[in-house]
Amino acid sequence: MTVEIHNFDPAMAPAGKTVVRVMFDSDYEYWRRLREDEAAYAAEKDRIADAVVLALEKRFPGLSAQVEMRDVATPLTFRRYTGNWQGSFEGWQITPANWKKQIKKTLPGIEDFYMCGQWVEPGGGIPAVAMSGRNVIQIICKKDKKKFATTRR
Ligand SMILES: Cc1cc2nc3c(=O)[nH]c(=O)nc-3n(C[C@H](O)[C@H](O)[C@H](O)COP(=O)(O)OP(=O)(O)OC[C@H]3O[C@@H](n4cnc5c(N)ncnc54)[C@H](O)[C@@H]3O)c2cc1C
Repeated sequence: MTVEIHNFDPAMAPAGKTVVRVMFDSDYEYWRRLREDEAAYAAEKDRIADAVVLALEKRFPGLSAQVEMRDVATPLTFRRYTGNWQGSFEGWQITPANWKKQIKKTLPGIEDFYMCGQWVEPGGGIPAVAMSGRNVIQIICKKDKKKFATTRR
């Protein structure tokens, strides 16, 4: 279980409170089917929240008595908020086959069209997508025979 304790970030919770975030891999199709029965969907989210708090209690005795709010986001939640396919939160899942794969940033037959972002950088994430945008600009500069220059702040 990966646990992120956001006690360093005052933007996450009011003074004196802390957000603890736990993430798991999950199957979109499982949740999509479950969502057809709203009560079952809500019950499963509750069951998971209970199990997570119980597991955290073992590591941090006394934690469960201090929990004031719980929120469970599923792949359907990420789909709704980000529009991403199957609620994937960082694009393609990294596998041994794709982890070093380079995806082309252009498509055959479409002039002056470039792609950047998590779906062309397996693994995604903020640093990778920022670099993806930068790299596309570099490709365009080369095509336009312009010097590619960067600045740092
Ligand atoms: C809950 C969550 C937690 C995350 N945590 C981390 C983390 O801790 N660290 C990390 O590095 N990464 C994290 N990520 C992943 C990271 O946020 C993404 O990989 C990254 O934001 C993807 O950037 P992007 O530019 O490819 O896509 P997006 O940020 O999704 O940008 C795509 C943009 O295109 C717009 N758009 C879509 N369709 C159209 C259209 N037809 N016309 C015009 N605009 C359109 C969208 O509105 C959006 O603004 C997290 C993601 C989620 C969902």
